[in-house]
Amino acid sequence: MATHSIPVTKNLHPKLASFDMNQIAFGKNFTDHMLVADYENGEWKNVEIKPYAPFEVDPSSAVLHYGQTIFEGIKAFKNEKGEVVIFRPDQNFIRFNTSAARMQMPQVPEWLFMEGMKQLIDLERAWIPSKPDASLYIRPFMIATDPFLGVRPSNSYKFMIILGPSGPYHAAPMKILIEQQYTRATPGGVGFAKNGGNYGASLYPVTLAQAKGYDQVLWTDAIEHKYVEEVGMMNVMFVIDGKIITPSLERGTVLKGVTRDSSITILREMGYEVEERNLLVSEIIEAHKKGLFQEVFGVGTAAVVSYISRLAHEEYVMDFDVDALKVAPALKNHLNDLRMGNIVDKHNWLVKL
Ligand SMILES: *Cc1c(COP(=O)(O)O)cnc(C)c1O
Repeated sequence: MATHSIPVTKNLHPKLASFDMNQIAFGKNFTDHMLVADYENGEWKNVEIKPYAPFEVDPSSAVLHYGQTIFEGIKAFKNEKGEVVIFRPDQNFIRFNTSAARMQMPQVPEWLFMEGMKQLIDLERAWIPSKPDASLYIRPFMIATDPFLGVRPSNSYKFMIILGPSGPYHAAPMKILIEQQYTRATPGGVGFAKNGGNYGASLYPVTLAQAKGYDQVLWTDAIEHKYVEEVGMMNVMFVIDGKIITPSLERGTVLKGVTRDSSITILREMGYEVEERNLLVSEIIEAHKKGLFQEVFGVGTAAVVSYISRLAHEEYVMDFDVDALKVAPALKNHLNDLRMGNIVDKHNWLVKL
């Protein structure tokens, strides 16, 4: 593949010097540059890196009306030696194009996604926090830009990458309500894709759960609400009688998380048995009644591993002593050590800049 050098317009008023790296809130701060590319007449063009700034969108743009929009979430880390690594971006590239196909959007070529991301990050090296647990969050996304109100696939699109310093992410353990009415994803639907609408649709049920004192919902299958699927915007793992169980991807209603995949590999290497299968809510409750339900946690790029202190099914409440967790903290430490370069990257998951 030819190396593509993407033209860069430098930001003449960078914010970096005045930015306080000790006050990083996730998703609120963005670096000084962004990557932009346009898709027109069947090809990607106008690829450039330029100062981060708002841009104009026609009010009739397809994305504003019918939701043709997809995104990814990736992290880059700076280790103690000052080296910059990106965690498994090849997996995000594949998933981005899987999402694109489902949303009838064009494929993004590898050079644009990968080389574009690397060139942008290289330019913004100084924005990458070097603290343990802190990272640079990478947000590639694509939107449909045809100025046309007809419901049909757009002919023009914009692909962009923006970056923001992130973490250390010290989230409190979560209280989770098992969802009995609303759904995140349906078989044949778009649950496996990272398209905007999935997230908009989740806000109302999560707000209802929050009004009842919970932080998030555990999504269950759309048809019977009997099988568990995901927790909030994360994949979910259960420790029952020493074994780890995570919902399988078969029905297309569970997002194929990169952290999920990495966690399964790491946990197996640690000696745990990991099952990817359908898991009934009733099986969890039975295990809890027998004293065999040991842990439940979320896995995803943003929070890495999220502890859960309470899981409730209607009136039945299951509490977990977060200080006594074994699997979740071991996995979290392993993933963090790997990303910070403290342990050997034997699967070549880290892409060096
Ligand atoms: C992004 C996402 C995840 C986590 O995927 P990672 O690749 O591990 O970040 C899980 N579930 C949903 C619904 C997501 O959008």
